[in-house]
Amino acid sequence: MAKKTWNKKELKEFKKIIVDKRQTMLENIEEARRRADDIINQGNQSSIYSSHMADAGSDQQSLEHAYSIINRESSFLNYLDLALQRIDDTSFGVCSKCGELISKERLMEVPHATKCFDCKTSNI
Ligand SMILES: [Zn+2]
Repeated sequence: MAKKTWNKKELKEFKKIIVDKRQTMLENIEEARRRADDIINQGNQSSIYSSHMADAGSDQQSLEHAYSIINRESSFLNYLDLALQRIDDTSFGVCSKCGELISKERLMEVPHATKCFDCKTSNI
């Protein structure tokens, strides 16, 4: 029995989605980095004038928020890179547990999924 795979045309379609998502992610990371830099620079300036504590507190929060975006997007970026590798070796979109094709809807939503919905949920 031949192993199940998505055909070339479909893989190409998925690849485009992933590359687009990847681009958005890179932009999000870049923006969050800029924001973090701004906050740090402002923080350095305001500390000279020993500015309000309240401002410092919200700066800290914004900074943590920016870093959490960078962290989250970076690990997601990693998953997308792995998904792109799997597209190249055509193992993309195949459940690593049961070997069935993962539904297209699921792959559109979660392109880095390596298990079908049934296997994923039966694991928990
Ligand atoms: Zn499965």
